[in-house]
Order: sequence, then C-alpha cells, then structure tokens
Amino acid sequence: MSPLQIIEHPLFKAHQIEVYIKRDDLIHPIISGNKWRKLKGNLSYAKAKGLKGILSFGGAYSNHLHALAYACQQQELAAKAVIRGEPEYLTNYTLSWAMHWGLEPIFVDRQTYRQREQAEYLAALATQFPDYLIVPEGGSNQLALSGLAELVEELNQQISFDTLMLPVGSGGTIAGIINADQCQHQILGIAVLKQADYLRNNINQLLSTSQNQTAKTFNNWQLLTEFHRGGYGKFSDQDCLRLAEFIAQTGVPFEPIYSGKIVLALLDLIAQGYFPAGHKIVLLHTGGLQGLGGQIERGLLPNEFIKAVQSHLPSAPQVQ
Ligand SMILES: *Cc1c(COP(=O)(O)O)cnc(C)c1O
Repeated sequence: MSPLQIIEHPLFKAHQIEVYIKRDDLIHPIISGNKWRKLKGNLSYAKAKGLKGILSFGGAYSNHLHALAYACQQQELAAKAVIRGEPEYLTNYTLSWAMHWGLEPIFVDRQTYRQREQAEYLAALATQFPDYLIVPEGGSNQLALSGLAELVEELNQQISFDTLMLPVGSGGTIAGIINADQCQHQILGIAVLKQADYLRNNINQLLSTSQNQTAKTFNNWQLLTEFHRGGYGKFSDQDCLRLAEFIAQTGVPFEPIYSGKIVLALLDLIAQGYFPAGHKIVLLHTGGLQGLGGQIERGLLPNEFIKAVQSHLPSAPQVQ
C-alpha cells in the first residue's frame, strides 16, 4: 500500500482546505505510480494465457515503456514496443533503462505511429506477433482497471475525503478509479494535453466496457481541460519555478508533465475559490519521476527546478 501524507501550504490554510497526497510515486522503486497499477492486470493475463510477452506503444520518453520493460523482465515475459522515433533515441535516459531490462524496440515514423489504434494495423501486428498481448499506449485498457480498484480500496482504508484529483493522459487511470469508486467521492481529472475534450468519450468507453453495468450513471467525475499549460510535455520556466517552490515547501518531488500539472491546477483552483472551506482533497501522485532524466538530458528544466528535485533522481545506466 502506498503511503498517504498530509501536505501543508499557506494557500491551503488561507482557504481552509485540507490536502493529502497519495504517494503512488513510492509504490515501487522502479515501476512507479499508475503504470504499475495499470500493468498488473495485463501482466497476470499474459501469464495466465501462457503468452510470450506484451507488445505496446509509446514515445521515446514514455513512462509506460519504462515500466513495461522492467515489469516484463520481472515476470519473465518479453516486452516489445512500437516506438515513435528513430533508433538514435535508444541512448536516452528512458530507453537506455528499458533496453537494459530487455525491451525489444520497433521504431516507426509518425505516420505509422498514428495508426496505433486502428483495427487494421493492430490486426497486422497480431498476425506478426501472435503470442503477444497487445496493450494500447499508456497501458489503458480494460485489463488495467482492476489495479485501480486496489488503489481505491487503499484510499478507503486510509482516509475519508471529498475530492480525488489526478492527471489524465489517455484516461485509463481515471476510468479505473471512477469504476471502483462507485460514486463515493468527486473525481477531478486534469487533462495534461491540449484539446482534450475527446478524452471524455475514451473514459466513458472504458467505463462501459468494464463489467460494471451502471457505468453510464457515473456523474461524480469531471475533466478540466484548461490546465494543460500549452500541451502535452509543454510547460514554462515560470511553471517550473512555481513547482520548485512547492517541492521545497512540501518535500514531495513532482515532474512538470503529469503530477506537476495537477499541483499547479490545484493552486490555481484554490486561489479562484473553486473548493468550499472545509473541503478535503486527495492528490494522486501518479509517479513518472523517471521522465525527469530525459528532461534534464534535453535541457528542458531550469536549474532552480533541478536543484529542487535533485535528491529524488535515480542515476542513468551505462549502455553497452
Ligand atoms: C501515463 C501517466 C499519467 C496518465 O495516465 P492515463 O491513465 O494515461 O490517463 C499520469 N501520470 C503519470 C506520471 C503517467 O506516467
């Protein structure tokens, strides 16, 4: 069970809001956060069916592929990944770890990568790799939902609260949580990408394919689409400085692609008076700190931010 901590901030105090953080970034030393939750069901399915491995999709800095490679190695499954980009990415922080754990990369151009959800392309992959479980980008499929139910169970044991806030990329995590929460709490998703309104459909689709017959009646969740800060992977130096301050204040590390965006959204929403006094919020720290390795390599982070997270960074592997 990942820990739950209270976090203190003058803004929370001023608005009489209580904020807790569910530290799924600490759930496992390598497979952090929601990728672990989502992979669990997929790994057990692949094992139970006697499959050779898992084939999935991702970008060259993907938290999902990083987690997939390690998790498959542990389970003695093969891991294949269709990766958007060129083999030159193999030496980046994320993929060098993934290769270290045995990831078999298949590099494709952007155009091919765009077909990753199309039936025809998926059927061709299934023919080519018949003994692999094909898992969508981010690991968000129906098999992922059960791992999120465990998260909801943990929370129910740990605390009573009003709102659970989390970042949303492909929608698998929030769908699993809505499904398991059964309307006990408000679920507030913050989209980390631009023009994310389409995600509501993806979330509803995951909910309706789950065993849950009452999926359509869930009305306790919302997706806010105005806090993407420029788009997926985009953030300003100013965003990083605000985050660095928050990290120093709370002692909890965040990265600017996912968990950092919910922190900034939370601060903005509280300042706007979005939550009533006395409200109890749980932030879900979905992990993703491995992404900082690649962001530092690419010079995307201001020094002040690097200083703030430095003590939380794992070191990069040597690639043979
Ligand atoms: C992938 C990821 C998300 C997004 O989760 P979805 O299930 O795709 O919505 C959020 N946070 C982190 C750290 C991630 O790696």
